[in-house]
Amino acid sequence: MLRVLPLGGLGEVGMNCMAVEQRGDVLLIDCGVTFDNRSLGVDVVHPDFSALDSFGHRIVGVVVTHGHEDHIGALPYLLRRHDVPVWAPPYALGLIRERLGEHEVLAHARLLETRPRTPFMMGSFQVEPIRVTHSIADATALAITTDEGMFVHSGDFKLDEAPPDGEHFDTERLGQLGDAGVTLLMSDSTNIDVEGPTGNEIDVGVVLEELVEGATGAVVVAMFASNIHRLRLLGDIARRTNRKIVLLGRGVGTHARVARSTGYLPWPDDLVWPDAQARELPHSRILAVATGSQGEANAALAKLARGEHPALDIGPGDRVVLSARTIPGNEPEVHALLGLLIKRGCEVRTRLTDRGVHVSGHAHRPEQRNMIEMVRPKCFIPVHGTIHHLTRHAALAREVGVEHVTVIENGRIGEISEGRLVPGPSVHSGRVHVFAGHAIPPTVLREREVMAEEGFASCAVTVDSGGTAIEVQLVTRGVVDEKLHADELEAARAAVKRAIAELAAHGDDAQVSEQARLAVRRTFFKSRGKKPMTVVHVRRS
Ligand SMILES: [Zn+2]
Ligand SMILES: [Zn+2]
Repeated sequence: MLRVLPLGGLGEVGMNCMAVEQRGDVLLIDCGVTFDNRSLGVDVVHPDFSALDSFGHRIVGVVVTHGHEDHIGALPYLLRRHDVPVWAPPYALGLIRERLGEHEVLAHARLLETRPRTPFMMGSFQVEPIRVTHSIADATALAITTDEGMFVHSGDFKLDEAPPDGEHFDTERLGQLGDAGVTLLMSDSTNIDVEGPTGNEIDVGVVLEELVEGATGAVVVAMFASNIHRLRLLGDIARRTNRKIVLLGRGVGTHARVARSTGYLPWPDDLVWPDAQARELPHSRILAVATGSQGEANAALAKLARGEHPALDIGPGDRVVLSARTIPGNEPEVHALLGLLIKRGCEVRTRLTDRGVHVSGHAHRPEQRNMIEMVRPKCFIPVHGTIHHLTRHAALAREVGVEHVTVIENGRIGEISEGRLVPGPSVHSGRVHVFAGHAIPPTVLREREVMAEEGFASCAVTVDSGGTAIEVQLVTRGVVDEKLHADELEAARAAVKRAIAELAAHGDDAQVSEQARLAVRRTFFKSRGKKPMTVVHVRRS
């Protein structure tokens, strides 16, 4: 019997991590992070790996499909806990080295390169990477030979017919596997709701070239730094339009450096102008690539919009191209940012003005259908999506004629034996929120939520020997304006005194504290509808 256990990415978009187990060997496919945009002081969120301990088995390593953060970002946290080898395509490996270096786990890491159509062993599994196209270079699917037959994991993919790096989607190999017989397919569900073709990256280049050619001043293209195909096209456009590439933001700098060192960005040295000297270039010679397409406040595009970028000032005559989709949830930040750019006098071009300025990296529904038809698996598990995406993708697989289709979410085991797939038991799964490399305890996150929602109050009560509160000091934050609403503070103090009086002389410190806490919360609930987090100190006089 073989078991698959998703630790992340099933029931959500992002944080991909799938464990596959046979004969006590556990192989992990991808190890990614996600983000928490609730403004609670969280850098990244990674899967809770404790199920791997309770799974009670030997981890033979991690195999990475491609270099996106939602597939590699959690490796530093996993490797701190389990010292296991990591296999990845060269470009992803370059990015992994950067990540591990930041976390000081690079020195001990065992990193191994994978190549398409070159199988290797991980414990009792044989793994063969297969080239797929995606919005990052060097992306792979995986064909894994197991005791229960062939497993195919699509990784993230789209069917790009003319990838800018010339590395074509290996439909031939997937077809061969389909002919030979595949037991299980796990495939990317992200764009199950989108009909029609995804569109080729090279066509985005055509639209971008028109936008650059038609500009008189500087052109700033904001995009996901990891889209090396698009960076490559922008390099060609810069050469043809006699401009220099200026890389603004840490992300594009890192990706360009790693891509150049792995051969995925064949840029001559004189194409890239040092960002620190961007002011020396006439605006008509600038083709800048900026991070921050999602409205991130500290990224290059936001700094340009606020006029705070150290290397470049943009304004009337300059053109900003948003060459990205806005991830659901980020719309307010993106709109605010575009507003600032417009107020500066920049011309802003987006998917709304120029439709072809971005294409997705994830297969639309017809390509997902293609994938299933190519591989023709006996069993199917949709991966990488919310429960909605997974359920619709499962329905598509049934429609195409796959016999055993199961939707499982993070923490639920899928069991495969003799060509059949059934949902198995659940194990512990969850999320670990991290800031500056350290896990934030769930209680602390909850406290931050409460404080943001309800505000905070600190109450110091002095009680005499007869049990009377002779002094009550009250300080609030995020509840009322203490200068404007002194009456409400006074009402709360009076309520505290009354509540403690009810205890008479019998109350111990804990009871006094609790009475005071409830009185403060009740008072502000009446006047403001808020129950502030309240901390009470009791003193005896
Ligand atoms: Zn991806
Ligand atoms: Zn992904």
